[in-house]
Amino acid sequence: MDGTSTPTTAPVLILLGPPGAGKGTQARVLEEQFGLVQLSTGDLLRAAVAAGTDAGKAAKAVMEAGDLVSDEIVINILRDRLKEDDCAKGVILDGFPRTTVQAEALDTLLAETGQKINAAVSLEVDDAEMVTRISGRFTCGGCGEGYHDSFKPTAKTNTCDKCGSTDMKRRADDNAETVGQRLEAYHAQTAPLITYYDGKGALKTIDAMGDIARISKDLATLVAKAIA
Ligand code: ADP
Ligand code: ADP
Ligand code: ZN
Repeated sequence: MDGTSTPTTAPVLILLGPPGAGKGTQARVLEEQFGLVQLSTGDLLRAAVAAGTDAGKAAKAVMEAGDLVSDEIVINILRDRLKEDDCAKGVILDGFPRTTVQAEALDTLLAETGQKINAAVSLEVDDAEMVTRISGRFTCGGCGEGYHDSFKPTAKTNTCDKCGSTDMKRRADDNAETVGQRLEAYHAQTAPLITYYDGKGALKTIDAMGDIARISKDLATLVAKAIA
């Protein structure tokens, strides 16, 4: 990090959607296709928990209960991450903003660097599908690639297709009890952002039920236009 501000042309995409909608899966595909950087506040918070920082200590129990971490903690983490040099390529925000306070804070941060939101894409899925997606989710500890027991299994049992690691991780909060609370938090606090971004003319929607590759294709078409 050298403290220089991000060039004004760097695109900013937001992926909105309930837990398990496929934000992380699709963000990784977009990273590769468009050379953008995925910023997942969930990943940043899990790293803070693992590192035992003050923010991580405050966030741990809240995340395990399926509630939202305080706006102050999340905004600080995101602000710091956005200052890192790689973000000059443009960013895909995955899981941020999740409240109106966070959305307004993002507007302020982007105003400071003269950037704008190219698109806020809402991944639309049924609540019933979420439980199935979340209960089968696992992730490669080596490279972060996401998998699913039934919908996106590894080619070779317990071995990452991308990096060959056998260190597969399941999240502590990916269980049937916590999913209900996370969906509730989504509907109460995050879904209003769909109206927020619609009001700014930035909202796009994608049918996120069905085949992962079909969704990636629809998303790529939309993103190519949004960052052109
Ligand atoms: P999010 O980041 O929105 O929480 P993920 O991208 O982690 O969601 O996806 C949740 C789980 O569902 C993962 O196990 C992923 O492999 C799987 N998944 C993602 N998209 C689809 C899809 N279109 N159909 C079926 N499973 C999917
Ligand atoms: P998912 O997409 O499956 O909900 P995430 O990895 O995005 O998973 O988030 C996991 C948890 O981290 C959330 O349930 C919440 O406790 C916390 N979290 C992540 N992003 C935010 C955010 N922007 N604001 C508040 N809490 C967050
Ligand atoms: Zn891997």
